[in-house]
Amino acid sequence: MTLLALENLSVRYGGASLALEDVTFAVPESAIVALLGPNGAGKTTTLRAISGLLPFHGGAITSGRIIFDGAPLTGRSAQRVCGGIAQVMEGRRVFADLTVEENLLSGAFTRPRSTVKSSLDGVYALFPDLTGRRRDMAGLLSGGQQQMVAVGRALMSAPRLLLLDEPSLGLAPMIVQQIAAVLREINEEGASVLLVEQNAALALSLASSACILETGIVALSGPSEILKTDPKVREIYLGHGAGVVA
Ligand code: ATP
Repeated sequence: MTLLALENLSVRYGGASLALEDVTFAVPESAIVALLGPNGAGKTTTLRAISGLLPFHGGAITSGRIIFDGAPLTGRSAQRVCGGIAQVMEGRRVFADLTVEENLLSGAFTRPRSTVKSSLDGVYALFPDLTGRRRDMAGLLSGGQQQMVAVGRALMSAPRLLLLDEPSLGLAPMIVQQIAAVLREINEEGASVLLVEQNAALALSLASSACILETGIVALSGPSEILKTDPKVREIYLGHGAGVVA
């Protein structure tokens, strides 16, 4: 079943030309889908449109629609979190002056109190490195641990769809492997993931299908196994320096 569908979506920032034009792709229930493409292709814009953060960045949907769980997505960002969508933004945006645990708890604002303790235990089980750091200020953690906090905080809302913007950026290969393992684990438990990645080798190894954006347009899409053999994908996205394969 389809959990998320973008149907002919176009987005514009102010008076600029379209940042997304007629973008159509779907994220099936319990699937990992990768969104690839060069800088400025529209990947972050796509995530903003889904999470409801577009207006905060001066952008608007000009045509098309987004269907989540069978109904058009409307409403503000917080309502979308209640509806089961959580986003991990690019650049590990943790609250530096809050403890690790306070950061995690901030992700649970939509959840019934009775579920919070088990969600916290779940996050510490996924990221054992955070267990001993729960009382430390998040700003004191390594980049990799901050990324774990950012992903953990999103998981605290028990999302059905997790949006991730470049989770591997600037992280050591070992940490990237850990994050990849967690994404596989939460996906096995039933969550869907839309993964924006510059590291196409990593993304295609995790995702069952992918969509490649170029200047706001879908240039290619399909099952990862087929895209991996596509000559253009191999040359441009999986060439030398494509990075770590999880
Ligand atoms: P990157 O990998 O560099 O993050 P991206 O694929 O995520 O790139 P977007 O950040 O979505 O691409 O940008 C798509 C287009 O929209 C670009 O032309 C960019 O300059 C423009 N854009 C993004 N954010 C804004 C904004 N807040 N105001 C105006 N234009 C924007």
